[in-house]
Formats: sequence, C-alpha cells, structure tokens
Amino acid sequence: MKILSISTRSDELEFYLFEMDNSTIVTKGTFSRISLEDSYYTISFNSEKITEHIIVKNYDDVVNILLDKLNVLNIISSSFDIKGIGFRVVHGGSKYTESVFINDKVIQDVNDLSEFAPLYNDSISMAMRSFKKILPDTPMVAVFDTAFNQTIAEENYLYPVPLDWYEKYGIRKYGFYGTSHKYVTQKVSELLDRDNFKLISCHLGNGGSVSAIENMKVVDTSMGFTPLSGIMMGTRSGDIDPSIIPYIMKKEGLNVGEVLDELNNNSGVYGLSQYSGDMREILEECDKGNVKTIMAKNKFVRSVADYIGKYYVLLGGVDVIVFTAGIGENSVQIRREICEKLACFGVKIDLDLNNNCGEIVKISTNKSKVQVYVIPTEEELMVALDTEKLIKNR
Ligand code: ADP
Repeated sequence: MKILSISTRSDELEFYLFEMDNSTIVTKGTFSRISLEDSYYTISFNSEKITEHIIVKNYDDVVNILLDKLNVLNIISSSFDIKGIGFRVVHGGSKYTESVFINDKVIQDVNDLSEFAPLYNDSISMAMRSFKKILPDTPMVAVFDTAFNQTIAEENYLYPVPLDWYEKYGIRKYGFYGTSHKYVTQKVSELLDRDNFKLISCHLGNGGSVSAIENMKVVDTSMGFTPLSGIMMGTRSGDIDPSIIPYIMKKEGLNVGEVLDELNNNSGVYGLSQYSGDMREILEECDKGNVKTIMAKNKFVRSVADYIGKYYVLLGGVDVIVFTAGIGENSVQIRREICEKLACFGVKIDLDLNNNCGEIVKISTNKSKVQVYVIPTEEELMVALDTEKLIKNR
C-alpha cells in the first residue's frame, strides 16, 4: 500500500511516498519557490536525485507535475496506486485532538488557523485543496502537530494572564512537534513492551521541543502559543521576559513585527554566538576556542537540561529520556553534556554507546536510574502511518 506524506512551509512543499508494507521510502522530494520566479522541484529515486527548473504557478501545478513525474519514472502506473495522502498540519488549534479525514470544513478550519502558524497552515490548506480537486477519490488525512499535545491539562496549558485572553482569543499553550514526540512515545512503548512509563522526549533540531509524557499522554511541553517559546533554539530565543519586546522596540526604533523577526530568526544559538545557528558549525568553532560559540553551546545545553529538570519534578521521576532530531540523533557531545547535568537524577551514560548515531540505541549504563535512548524521529512516516490507520479502520 503506497501512501504519500505531504508537508509545507511557506513556498516549499516536501513529499515522501512510502511503501507501507515495509515502511520504506519509495521516493521523496521537494517543490521550491512555488508561485515565484525560478521555481524548481527535486525528486530522489533509485539513489539518484533529479532537479528540474520548471514553472510551478500554484499547488495545482505541484500535484500535476508530481503525478506526471511519478508516472514517467514508473514509480506508479496510475494515480490509483496512491492509496492515501497524509498532510502534516502544524496547527490544529484546540479543536483537533487526533488525525481526521479531510473535507472542505477541515480545509477551511486549517486555513482559519493560519493566523497562529502563518508560514505553514495557509500553504498546507492550499496543497490540500489542490490534491482534493485533482484526486477527488483518494482518501486524504490531516495529521496535526498540535494533536498529541491536546491531553495537556488546563492548569498546564493556560498562561497566568487574564483568563479572557484564553476565552476570547484562544491564548494558551498548544505545543508543537507532537508528531515527532508521538512517534518517539510509540517506539519507547515497543522497546519497553508496555505503555505505562514516564518519558521526557527531547526533539533537538533547528527548532526544539521537550515534552513530558506519562502513560502515552503529554502532560506538558516546552513550546507554547507559538513555536517561539520553550528551550533556546538554532535561531529562536525560546522563553524570555516579554518586557524586553517594548523596550527594544523603543531603543532600536523597531515595530513589533521586526522584533518578533529578531526573536525568531536572529536569536537563540545564532544570536548569542554571532556565528551560526547550526550546531555542527558551532561545535567545530568551539573546538577552536571561540568563546562566544562556547557560551552559546553551554546555554543551549543548560536550557535543555533545565526543561528536563522541570519535567522530572512534574512527572515525579522519569523512566526514559529520549534524544531525537538533528542534534539529538547526531551530536555525541551535546547528548553527553546534557546527561552530565542530569547526574543528580542518577542518569549515567556509557560513552562508547553514546558514540552511536542515526539508529535506535540505548546509551545509558545498566546502573543508570533512568534509561536514555537515541531514537531517530520519522515524522513523515508517522503522518503516513496515521493515514494508513484511518483508511484501514474506515
Ligand atoms: P529541522 O528542525 O530543520 O528539521 P534537523 O532535525 O534537521 O532540523 O536538525 C538540524 C540541526 O542538527 C542543525 O543544528 C545541525 O547542525 C544539527 N546536526 C546535524 N548533525 C549533527 C552532528 N553530527 N553534530 C551536531 N549537530 C548536528
């Protein structure tokens, strides 16, 4: 059974075609600069990557070009070979607590939430509309990045601000990266062969989110109303005092959008190091003794450890800590430094095991009071798995 998994960000669309029988990627690629000049797409197939510069005026073009290319490359013999399409939706608001089949109402709801996730929800709703128009008989499913976080209790998702802000405008914690945390949670359940455990899942990529999970349900998560809050990230500040915003607006003569842009794109590891938001580059520079990169890296480690500490208390202990995403899966040094800060909780990692990257591996020692795993995340597969599940249960 072949399932297509779609995600978008602004003018870019990413696709993965999975063979669900063995959970393998048949092909994947991206459409870039959709509706702009110099648009192009890439497609990887049989260890070859094809790039073609072609006019992509809108999402109808994306669907038509994609289907044509899949046919020409003999990946499918007709569009009927695609048994389902899953769309990764960044924001599902309070309404969507699980994945759903797409209809006009769902597409409209996703579009209406664009205000909360401007780069993502509008583009994915446009993609949904085009796929639905061109493939009206193919089952399509929306998988929400916020859905897994919908088990968070009111006390944890409300901000300590006037309650009307929540009642009138939906100002609350939504949390993001739920698709990744859900995948990790399911993997831990398979590894432990049970579903009653306390887990702290650390998704550390360019963006980052730490979640506290108990008995397969999210108790709290570091990102909030938007993906700007929580731990320090590649270019995002994470939690800061909001009074900084009007102060810096006055001092630098910026408007609120410009300050938010600074907090999203010029802060975090990049902002403090004044060098890069890319952890690999930061670590290389740390080795050369660059004090600003060392300070930024140390603060990143501290920020993740702080959240783990906070969630250790919230959960009343923890059975498993998981590292995932670009930094979590690949950086031996960052994992080691975070775990060193957790020694007071009885966390002990085996430095040889910690050298393993890019595969599921337990890096804690037998004496460790907490099991620590590296689990590569598979967000696109998770979207396809949810889509398959809904189709099979129909
Ligand atoms: P995104 O949030 O864009 O999906 P990724 O999960 O791909 O991000 O993570 C990207 C981050 O992972 C970058 O900061 C990158 O430098 C970091 N990263 C990838 N490989 C390594 C590595 N070997 N060592 C340290 N950092 C790494």
